[in-house]
Amino acid sequence: MNYFEYSRATDVADAVRQMAADPEARFIAGGTNLLDLMKENVARPSRLIDISRLPLRDVEETKDGGLRIGALVPNSDLAWHPQIESRYPLLASAILAGASPQLRNMASTGGNLLQRTRCVYFYDTTTPCNKRDPGSGCAAIHGVNRMHAILGASEHCIATHPSDMCVALAALDARVHVAGGAGERTIPFEYFHRLPGDTPDLDANIRADEIITAVELPPNGFVHNYTYLKIRDRLSYAFALVSVAAALDLEDGNIAEARLALGGVAHKPWRDREAEDALKGRRPTEQNFARAAEVLLGGAHGYGHNDFKIDLARRAIVRALGQAARGTPQSQSDKRIA
Ligand SMILES: Cc1cc2nc3c(=O)[nH]c(=O)nc-3n(C[C@H](O)[C@H](O)[C@H](O)COP(=O)(O)OP(=O)(O)OC[C@H]3O[C@@H](n4cnc5c(N)ncnc54)[C@H](O)[C@@H]3O)c2cc1C
Ligand code: SF4
Repeated sequence: MNYFEYSRATDVADAVRQMAADPEARFIAGGTNLLDLMKENVARPSRLIDISRLPLRDVEETKDGGLRIGALVPNSDLAWHPQIESRYPLLASAILAGASPQLRNMASTGGNLLQRTRCVYFYDTTTPCNKRDPGSGCAAIHGVNRMHAILGASEHCIATHPSDMCVALAALDARVHVAGGAGERTIPFEYFHRLPGDTPDLDANIRADEIITAVELPPNGFVHNYTYLKIRDRLSYAFALVSVAAALDLEDGNIAEARLALGGVAHKPWRDREAEDALKGRRPTEQNFARAAEVLLGGAHGYGHNDFKIDLARRAIVRALGQAARGTPQSQSDKRIA
C-alpha cells in the first residue's frame, strides 16, 4: 500500500502554493491517467492536489478573435462545444478520435496535454525504463517497439506522446497558459512538449510548481479544408499507430497556408514547418503531398518492429492532405462512431 494525502485546491494561487510546499505532490484533474499510473506503481505521489473544482471550465472569445479554453473543460464538452464544432472542426475531430466517450467525459484539457506515454515498459516496473527510472536503460529499443517513435527519438527513449487532441493543437498553433510561483506565462504549443534527449523523464517544458490554466487557439481554424486521420489497430478505443492533422487554406486553386502535424511518431506531436513550406504556393496534387511527406519523413528511423510506420506515415500524410484539399474530412465518420 502506498499512502498519500489528498487535498482540494480552492483557487489557482492555492494550487500553486500547495504544489510548491510539496515537490512530490501531483495535481489531479480527471484522474484517467494519473490513477492508472498510481495503481501500476509507476507514480507514487505523496499528495494529490485536486484541481477538478477550480473555475477553469469556460470557453471564451479572445480579443484577437480566437478562443481561450479553460484547463478543466472536459474533452467531451470541448469536442461538442458549438464554437469548436463550427470554428475548429479539426480539434473536435481529433478529440473524438481519442479514448472512449466515458473517458472523454472525465478527461480534462490540461490533463490531456500532460498524459504520459503508453510505452508498455514504462508501465511495467519489472523492466528498465529511463522515463520511469532515469539511468536504468530503455527496454523498448531492443524490445517490442511496434508502437514507438520514428522521429526525434534518442538512445535513451523512443516513446511516443499518445494524445490525439495535442496533434490538432500543434497544427492549429495553440498556446498554453500556465501559472506558477514565478507568475504566469504562455508557451507556444510547439515548445510545450519535449523530445527525450538525455532527460526522457521530462515530458514537457513546464515547471514543477506550474499549473496549466488554459489553452488558447488563434482565429484561423481551417474550417473548410482539414482532416484528422488516425490509423490504429481497432476502429475505436485504441492509440494511434500514426495520426495526421492536416489543414489547408486554398486560394485560386493553390495552397496559401498549410499545417501538418503527426501523432504516434515521436515523443511530442510532430509538426514540421519545412514540410508545410514545401506545400505553400503549390497546387494541391498528390505529387506535391508526396513531396511534403518525403520532407517530413527525411529523418525517420525505425527500431525493428516499428519500421512499417515510416511507409504508413507517408501514405497517411498523402491521404490526409488529399481529404483536406477535397474538403472531405475524416471527422465525418469519426463523429458517427462517437
Ligand atoms: C483506456 C484509455 C484509452 C485512452 N485512449 C486515448 C486515445 O486514444 N487518445 C488520447 O488522446 N488519449 C487517450 N487516453 C488518455 C486520456 O485522454 C487521458 O488520460 C486524459 O486526457 C487525461 O486527462 P485527465 O484530466 O484525466 O488527467 P489526470 O489523469 O488527472 O492527469 C494527468 C497528468 O496531468 C497532470 N495535470 C492534470 N491537469 C493539470 C493541470 N491543469 N496543470 C498541470 N498538471 C495537470 C496531472 O498531475 C497528471 O500528471 C486514453 C486513456 C485511457 C485510460
Ligand atoms: S521507450 Fe522510453 S518509456 Fe519506453 S522503456 Fe524506453 S525509456 Fe521507457
